Amino acid sequence: MTEAPELLIKNLTKTYKNGVKALDAVSLAIPRGLYGLLGPNGAGKSTLMRTIATLQEPDSGSIQFGTLDVLRQKEEVRKVLGYLPQDFGVYPRVNAEEMLDHLALLKGIASGKERKEAVHALLHRVNLWEHRRKALTGFSGGMRQRFGIAQALLANPQLLIVDEPTAGLDPGERNRFYNLLAEIGENVVVILSTHIVQDVMELCTNMAIIHQGQVLFAGAPEAAVKSLAGKVWSREIQREQLDEYKARLHVISHKLVAGRPQLHVYAESEPEAGFAAVAPDLEDVFFANIAGLR
Ligand code: ADP
Repeated sequence: MTEAPELLIKNLTKTYKNGVKALDAVSLAIPRGLYGLLGPNGAGKSTLMRTIATLQEPDSGSIQFGTLDVLRQKEEVRKVLGYLPQDFGVYPRVNAEEMLDHLALLKGIASGKERKEAVHALLHRVNLWEHRRKALTGFSGGMRQRFGIAQALLANPQLLIVDEPTAGLDPGERNRFYNLLAEIGENVVVILSTHIVQDVMELCTNMAIIHQGQVLFAGAPEAAVKSLAGKVWSREIQREQLDEYKARLHVISHKLVAGRPQLHVYAESEPEAGFAAVAPDLEDVFFANIAGLR
């Protein structure tokens, strides 16, 4: 297989009619492999992904995939594109094999023999072979997502876009899905949007943090974590103290650890007695960026 080219996004901007600026001069260079778009709900991830998938027009900016001008050569892009939307909600009563065969026909694989080969290979690849005769309506969340990937892979894409694919999966399903994506990412550009830090931590060699339509960080997750080293401080607090701490210090996050509120704050040196330095993780990076602390 030839190596998938790089995806270059420059100054992409989109304001919806209601005035929401969903993309604000987004520029990213996305290499082959798994690329994580991390951001809270409403950050602009779906807008960005739909735009790359040629389903939506930006107001300005450009997208280049290898030699293709994505915003102008939509038909050519669609030939090398696989897309799993957030709301992949078609679960008719037909079984997985029939549905894939039907979708393969729509993709233009005219020969019945070729279709059968392609569909069988995909069912094995996404581990749904045993369930191929089962109606899609009876599929679990994880099986649905794996079916969604199978349909996105039908045309052997060089560019695969998956929007919030792990939402609603249980830990076992999530792991199986991770393994599948990791395997696919060896050859093609895979862009994965998520609000789940763990997805990016476990899967992605490169990532961007997006918030309010802007790129706050782009690079390797380890580099992001390293940049926070020595600057994250933690202590256990009483629930009712949270507001005081928020008023006084740069609070990154607060969460329950074994039922007790644990505060993470950002500071160049020990903020107050009682705090201990902790090794930052990607979750700290995410919340510190979103909170505008970096
Ligand atoms: P994400 O995928 O990160 O949750 P979206 O791209 O879906 O973010 O949304 C970004 C922002 O744009 C949100 O404020 C959302 O409400 C708004 N938005 C998304 N789609 C539309 C639309 N079709 N019309 C108006 N506003 C929209």
